[in-house]
Amino acid sequence: MLRDLFIGLSKNQLLNAAAKNYGLKLGAQNVVAGTTIEETIESIKELNRFGISATVDNLGEFVFKEEEATEAKLQILNVIQAIHDHQVDAHISLKPTQVGLDIDFDFCLENVREIVAKAAQYDMFVNIDMEDSSHMDATLKLVDLLSADYENVGTVIQAYLHDAQNQVEKYQHMRIRLVKGAYKEPADIAYQNKSEIDANYIRIIEWHLLNGKFTSIATHDHDIINHVKQFVKEHSITNDKFEIQMLYGFRRDMQLQLAKEGYNFCTYVPFGKDWYGYFMRRLAERPQNLTLVFKQVFNKKTNTILGVAAGAFLVGRLSKGKDKKDKR
Ligand SMILES: Cc1cc2nc3c(=O)[nH]c(=O)nc-3n(C[C@H](O)[C@H](O)[C@H](O)COP(=O)(O)OP(=O)(O)OC[C@H]3O[C@@H](n4cnc5c(N)ncnc54)[C@H](O)[C@@H]3O)c2cc1C
Repeated sequence: MLRDLFIGLSKNQLLNAAAKNYGLKLGAQNVVAGTTIEETIESIKELNRFGISATVDNLGEFVFKEEEATEAKLQILNVIQAIHDHQVDAHISLKPTQVGLDIDFDFCLENVREIVAKAAQYDMFVNIDMEDSSHMDATLKLVDLLSADYENVGTVIQAYLHDAQNQVEKYQHMRIRLVKGAYKEPADIAYQNKSEIDANYIRIIEWHLLNGKFTSIATHDHDIINHVKQFVKEHSITNDKFEIQMLYGFRRDMQLQLAKEGYNFCTYVPFGKDWYGYFMRRLAERPQNLTLVFKQVFNKKTNTILGVAAGAFLVGRLSKGKDKKDKR
C-alpha cells in the first residue's frame, strides 16, 4: 500500500512543480547531491577522495515542451564542462525523455547527439538510461544511431525483461549498465517475481562479464554483489573489466567498503531542483527508506516540510487511479 501511495505521489505534476520551489526537503538531501552544479561538483570531489567515481544525472520529469528539453540539454552541457574544468572523475547519465523523447524523436536525437559530441571532446562517457518499456524501442534506436558515430555511449539493460539476454548479446561490444529494472511492466514482457528477476539478473551479469566490453553492475543487493565477487574470482576476470554502481546516499558503508577492497565503484549522483519524483520512487522502492523522511519530520525546523508531506499525502490520495503508467 505504501508503495502504491509513493508511486502515486511520484507522478503528481502539481506536487512536482511545487517541490521545485522548496529546495531539497523531506530528507531528499540525503539521496540528492545538490540543486546546483557547484554543490554537485563538491559532492563528487568528496566521493573521488574515497576512490569512487560518479555518474551524474540532471534530474527532470514531465518534459513535454521544447523549451524545457532545450534547457535540460544546456544544463547537461554545463555539467560536462564543469566535470572537465574541475577535473573530477565523473561521467553523464541522462534520461531521453528529459531531452525531448516524448516530444519528437529527431529533436531528441539531435539533443543527445550534441551532449555525446561535447562529452567525446573530453573523452567522457555518456550513459543513456533506460526508462519504461513504452520508451525502450526509441531509446535503443538512439543508442544504435549514436554508437555508429561515437564510442563514448552506452545504455542500460533491465533484467526483468524476457528479452534481456538478447539485448545483452546485441550490445556486448558496448559499456553496459545491468540493472534489475525500476518500472512496473506487464507479465507478457517482464518477469514479475523477485526470484525470477534475480536469476535472470545473475544470468546476464555472468554472460556480460565473460563476453562483454565493460560491465556496470548497478545494484544495492549484497547477495548479487557477493555472487559477482565469487564469479570474477573463479573466472579470473580482472577488476578493470567491471564496476559496481549504487545510488548516491544508499548503503554508504558498503560503497566505501567495496572501493576500499579495490573494486571499481561508481556512484549515481542525481542533482537538480526536480528531485521530487526521483525521491518518491526511492521511497516506493524500499519502505525502510522512509527513515530518511522521519529524521527530517521530527526536526523542529521542519513545519513547512510537514505541510508539504500532508499536502502530498492528500493530493496523492485524490489523484489515485488517474495515472496509467506506473513508474517504480
Ligand atoms: C546506479 C543505478 C542506476 C540505475 N539505473 C536504472 C535505469 O537506467 N533503468 C532502470 O530501470 N533502473 C535503474 N536502476 C534501478 C534498478 O533497476 C532497481 O530498481 C533498483 O536498483 C533496486 O534494485 P536492487 O538491485 O538495488 O535490489 P533490490 O531487489 O531492491 O533489493 C535486494 C535486497 O538488497 C538489500 N537492499 C536493497 N537496498 C538496500 C538499502 N538501501 N539498504 C540496505 N539493504 C538494501 C535488501 O536486502 C533487499 O531485499 C538503477 C539502479 C542503480 C543502483
